[in-house]
Amino acid sequence: MAAPAPDSERYTIGVDIGGTKVAAGVVTAQGEILRKTRVPMPTQGAAEEAFAAVRAAVDSLLPGEKGSRERYSIGASSPGPLDPRSGVIINPPNLPCWRDFPLAQRIAETWSLPAAVDNDANAAALAEALWGAGRGYSAVFYATLGTGIGTGIVFDGKVYHGRTGAAGEGGHCSIDFHGPRCACGKLGCIEALASGPNVARRARRRIAESRKASKILELAGGNEDAVTGETVAEAYRRGDAVAKAVLDETAEYLAMWLGNVIDLIEPDVVIFGGGMGDLMAEWFDFIRGKLPAWTVNSRSRETPLLGARYSQDAGIAGGAAICLDAGKRAG
Ligand SMILES: [Zn+2]
Repeated sequence: MAAPAPDSERYTIGVDIGGTKVAAGVVTAQGEILRKTRVPMPTQGAAEEAFAAVRAAVDSLLPGEKGSRERYSIGASSPGPLDPRSGVIINPPNLPCWRDFPLAQRIAETWSLPAAVDNDANAAALAEALWGAGRGYSAVFYATLGTGIGTGIVFDGKVYHGRTGAAGEGGHCSIDFHGPRCACGKLGCIEALASGPNVARRARRRIAESRKASKILELAGGNEDAVTGETVAEAYRRGDAVAKAVLDETAEYLAMWLGNVIDLIEPDVVIFGGGMGDLMAEWFDFIRGKLPAWTVNSRSRETPLLGARYSQDAGIAGGAAICLDAGKRAG
């Protein structure tokens, strides 16, 4: 039997499963994405039809000869809920095609290669910890701020999964008993306050209350319902006062929430990804300055807040990273 290939010659196919598309890429052991592809994801149809999209994306990236395929493994980053240990997709709201679908097993059987599956936030957290902004830190807290807020906790190159695999749902930690109801059913989750759609919702309310002219409404063509997180971001860039007030308030919420995270796990670094996360980078110093008011930790202000390395490619890099999860390798 031939000796195993050194790490420098090993590749991973990172598969990013989304509500509308499957993206996949060939990723090196150093986290470089060599080439990528994307195909539509038919989420409304049968389970096998959706798996055929994964098959098409992966087949277009794997080398033709069977022998050279042995240097590959395949990792999929998917919306949850899912079981990261068994690799079964349980019942994600935006993937109605898959109910209790054994994705990791199907991947492993289809290509006879090692396979791993985890939720998108855990996977992206691990990619940042191994290859991105979290490199060199042992305790990493990652948050992606976009349509929702997903988080992942990585200790020493290993995703922290908790007792049943459901840990790391920081986006659904509440900071306000009287806050708005989140899509998950709880009140005052940080997602219900600081995700893109909820930043837009707060902006709409502020415009209605202030009755002052705002570029936000102008950018949305005068239609309040068309206001999105991106509209607020663009209005802010153009100097709009209402947009600034909404984003200042968002930073206050994030500081309060992060204070809880720091008091609980005291991470070595906090990394923000996603569209809203990129925007909030301008408030990192502001947030750090507010942390002492929301922590008992006397050194919370020292916590580095960094922007993510992988933005659009977080799912591909994340899928690849979970194949290298120190916990899974040990097991
Ligand atoms: Zn929630």
